[in-house]
Amino acid sequence: MEGDMGASPTIPEQYANQQVGISGYRVLNLDLDGVCADYAGAMRDYLVRNGRMDPQTIPANTRYALTDNDGWPFASKSEYIAAHKAAEEEHLYATMQPIPGVAHALQRLADEHVYIRIVTHRLFVSGQHRIVVSDTAKWLDDNNIPYMSLCFAGLKDSIQATVHIDDSPANIAVLREVGQHVVVFDQPYNRELGGPRMADWSDASVDQLLDWFEQWPAEQ
Ligand SMILES: [Mg+2]
Repeated sequence: MEGDMGASPTIPEQYANQQVGISGYRVLNLDLDGVCADYAGAMRDYLVRNGRMDPQTIPANTRYALTDNDGWPFASKSEYIAAHKAAEEEHLYATMQPIPGVAHALQRLADEHVYIRIVTHRLFVSGQHRIVVSDTAKWLDDNNIPYMSLCFAGLKDSIQATVHIDDSPANIAVLREVGQHVVVFDQPYNRELGGPRMADWSDASVDQLLDWFEQWPAEQ
């Protein structure tokens, strides 16, 4: 029937009585930096390449904000922002390393009819949005990352989903505050947060995630 979501050939039969939305069909809001892509590693490579950081230096990674960690060559937040902008111009977002296993894992989720919606706050510095958007799309293509939609948004709680995956303690807290289901993508700076948590993009993690889509675990 026209207009009947249940009759749509794009929605598998087992979800025929559900709508694409918050709690029905499986929508995954997926963060990029620190979850799918190694932003800190790419910034470090940029700084080493430009002689601003010793190649032996591995900065700490116990705080979410880069500049809150020891080992980075920034005296102030504005110095960091300037370096970030320069790295963007050198196509940081087109060339950064994927987190191991991410493409295979997302392909599996797509095959299981999870609707992958990328939600990233990458437009937090103004002036170079064209580079950021096109390099992000290029990176997703080059790394064979499947997705149905690509959102550049900082207010993550304004875009609901069945399940979110994020690494930022602030984003996770805000999303949970409004009742959204968030899986913490494990990083040293988010270890104090409660679960559910995934350590990596292994097949076992994907299996677990698929179970959580079917049955969100009780309070941990
Ligand atoms: Mg992130």
